[in-house]
Amino acid sequence: MQFVFSFDYPHEVAPMNLKHLLGGKGANLAEMTSVLKLPVPHGFTISTDACRAYIDDGWPSGLTIEIDRALAELEELMGKHLGDPGDPLLVSVRSGAQFSMPGMMDTVLNLGLNDVSVEGLAAQTNDPRFAYDSYRRFIAMYARIVQGIESSEFDRLLDAAKELSGVNSDGEIPAELLRYLVGAYKELVAQETGHPFPQDPKVQIRGAIEAVFGSWNGPRAIAYREREGIDHRLGTAVNVQAMVFGNRDDNSGTGVGFTRDPATGEQGVYGDFLVNAQGEDVVAGVRITEPLAELETHFPEVFHQLMDIFERLELHYRDMCDVEFTVEQGKLWMLQTRVGKRTGIAALRMAVAMTSDPGIKLSREEALLRISPDHLDQMLHPQFATTKIEVLTTGLGASPGAAVGKVYFTSNDAVRAHEQGEEVILVRKETSPDDVHGMLASNGILTSRGGLVSHAAVVARGWGKPAVVGADELVFENGFAKIGDVELHEGDEISIDGSTGTVTLGRLPLEAAEPPQELELLLQWADEISSGHMSVRANADSGPDAEVARRFGAKGIGLCRTEHMFLAEDRLPIVRRMILADSPADEEQALEELRLAQREDFLAILRVMDGLPVTIRLLDPPLHEFLPDIEALLIKESNQTLSEEDEKLLEAAKTWREFNPMLGVRGVRLGVLKPGLYTMQVRALLEAAMDLKRSGGEPHVEVMIPLTISKAELAYAHAWVEEALAELGADDGLDVLFGTMIETPRAALLAMEIAEIAEFFSFGTNDLTQLTYGFSRDDVEGKLMPIYLAQGLLPSNPFKVVDAEGVIELVNIAAKRGRSTRPTIKLGVCGEHGGDPESIASFVKIGLDYVSCSPYRVPIARLAVAQSLVREGASL
Ligand code: ADP
Ligand code: MG
Ligand code: MG
Repeated sequence: MQFVFSFDYPHEVAPMNLKHLLGGKGANLAEMTSVLKLPVPHGFTISTDACRAYIDDGWPSGLTIEIDRALAELEELMGKHLGDPGDPLLVSVRSGAQFSMPGMMDTVLNLGLNDVSVEGLAAQTNDPRFAYDSYRRFIAMYARIVQGIESSEFDRLLDAAKELSGVNSDGEIPAELLRYLVGAYKELVAQETGHPFPQDPKVQIRGAIEAVFGSWNGPRAIAYREREGIDHRLGTAVNVQAMVFGNRDDNSGTGVGFTRDPATGEQGVYGDFLVNAQGEDVVAGVRITEPLAELETHFPEVFHQLMDIFERLELHYRDMCDVEFTVEQGKLWMLQTRVGKRTGIAALRMAVAMTSDPGIKLSREEALLRISPDHLDQMLHPQFATTKIEVLTTGLGASPGAAVGKVYFTSNDAVRAHEQGEEVILVRKETSPDDVHGMLASNGILTSRGGLVSHAAVVARGWGKPAVVGADELVFENGFAKIGDVELHEGDEISIDGSTGTVTLGRLPLEAAEPPQELELLLQWADEISSGHMSVRANADSGPDAEVARRFGAKGIGLCRTEHMFLAEDRLPIVRRMILADSPADEEQALEELRLAQREDFLAILRVMDGLPVTIRLLDPPLHEFLPDIEALLIKESNQTLSEEDEKLLEAAKTWREFNPMLGVRGVRLGVLKPGLYTMQVRALLEAAMDLKRSGGEPHVEVMIPLTISKAELAYAHAWVEEALAELGADDGLDVLFGTMIETPRAALLAMEIAEIAEFFSFGTNDLTQLTYGFSRDDVEGKLMPIYLAQGLLPSNPFKVVDAEGVIELVNIAAKRGRSTRPTIKLGVCGEHGGDPESIASFVKIGLDYVSCSPYRVPIARLAVAQSLVREGASL
């Protein structure tokens, strides 16, 4: 197996499609070199195959020979040799996995320098300052990345050198002192490792490559992959590339850029650069960068060449790209490109704009696939509900959305506070990959340093977390921070706006976002694709919820949980009276009151959903949920403080107490036990429907029976509907469907019989999951599930992503068997999985008619349905 490929290797397919082999960085370096013929420093890629082999069995045999051959070729091309005392070749060793993992794995620059070649570099460039600066950077980087020595040790020495020479910036330290600093760095390495700093470039390279391979399984890389759902088996590639020097002189520089604005999607010049600096200076945010547009004043020719390259990259990748570039003594070099990360709003705007871009000609289907559920989620992110904002300080708005929370200064403290249920804003000078867990635990991130491509900014944008970076008025003291004379202490509340970059003391009120216009258009395309295949309904229990659902584009209600009407403050006493009733007359009286209340509730919902189907589920939970907590009553009893009412409640609570309520008297079983209850609900519903119809509306009601286990049981329940219809003398024109939830495995298996009665099935995948696994969700999800996931005993939490093997098989069987009896049977999903994109893909495959989810997830589900259909080959 070949492990090493030069950037200009003649692959049989376009290298940009070989990310699994070359990693993202390597694939795009090869694409820029061999297809686009852009100015890229020569180099080669060690494939992910080599990394996997290394992880499994150690350094692969044959790899050294391949690397030596590739190095010899590189030396030949560059006309320089590694370690050459006269004019040494220097290289970077860069990691790059299939999926970009920002800042997750490190890069070593200036490799090949040693005590001899540094003199060669100094002589060759006639610039000893530059040579020693490069060497000391190399030692510090190598020591940190390969040898695991804390970088703060080196920072300390660097600060001391600055102080000694009385200068403020790294760039002003004189050559002599840099030479001395190199000595101090080497001494530190020798002290920490017990060995002198490696002088042989081949040994240096081998060390760097192994460090990159090894970092794949470092804790922060693993944590990142878990968050992003990236396969742990993929491994990373390693790129070895000839160095170019942006820190050569003032006619040099380095920068990053985006072909469009990754925050808004607008066209324009967007990025940062630094004169006389090396790449990592920009990303690390250690120096204040200049906006990319300023490049035109410093290097007009380079600027125009770069803009030209931006245009070519966009046309080639048919998407927004980001790039890293370096200018060495006036010559432009491209060091990296990739399809760039973006905010949800930018993703949406760009995708829609590119459908009418004559060069890119994105199809609407492609545009749909470019928006991720996370992007939509972000767009629906909260904003401040006020414009009266007293600004404490302003930084760069690096990741949009507003956030409020308590200030924590370290990631560990942030995590601890989050675990205690606090809302956290992580406040740091800058972030590094070591802060990933703290960032995850925070509602928002605030840093005092760094630009729009700093670690904090890139990671926050990827996760859709609001972030303000580079708020440089923020000064860190021992254990607290200061802005002017305002002190910020741990636990203080602040509000940040990641769109405008403002920071405010205290809590500002939040409100839902105003999504951009393009969203409506895109979702319209989505609905056009989905039409005739699958629609999206909402789970809504009240008129106002139904309104939200309709506003978000729900095509009906897939689940109305009538128990929520029972739990309302003014209803609960009536429900309790019904349960506690001593005589049939008392019970009837209570039921009558409930009927009138429910009728109003139903009417409100039907009105909002006029013309669309509304599925009403009859009462589902066990009755004891409507009674007070038995423990509390027992305590009162032992204190002898029970009121007369309490005594009755305690009696009832004892009567209805169950050993296992999930498997007890609930759902249709309750209806069988207390027939008056369900009949009352059906009557209230049908009356509401008739009211609406009489006033010119067009109600479509679907009466749904929960927790059915057999045809006989469902037929028994059906009689209540028939009875109510007859009793009300409902006219034939009233559109009423009768159906059932499929929540028990038995119902799924006997679907052909149940379909003789049911005109629709709604898969209640929450309970179906509980009953298929025998998992009581409340009991296992907290303690057990994390361990099962960590041990790999489950691929994912089956309450989040529908179990594609067991539960989906039951859905599939029920769908087939139901249709065999009743080909027109309507099939839907009303479990939480109905709003989960991955689960939706499974439901699309089975050909269900609708999914139903919470109102706020409706847009995401609409997108996910269309995306699944497009992936299955559907088009507009
Ligand atoms: P990351 O994936 O963290 O961005 P990179 O491998 O891209 O890491 O490298 C980090 C920095 O070093 C980037 O700014 C990049 O431009 C710079 N760099 C990498 N290789 C070279 C090189 N051969 N010459 C000059 N700069 C380089
Ligand atoms: Mg990079
Ligand atoms: Mg259920």
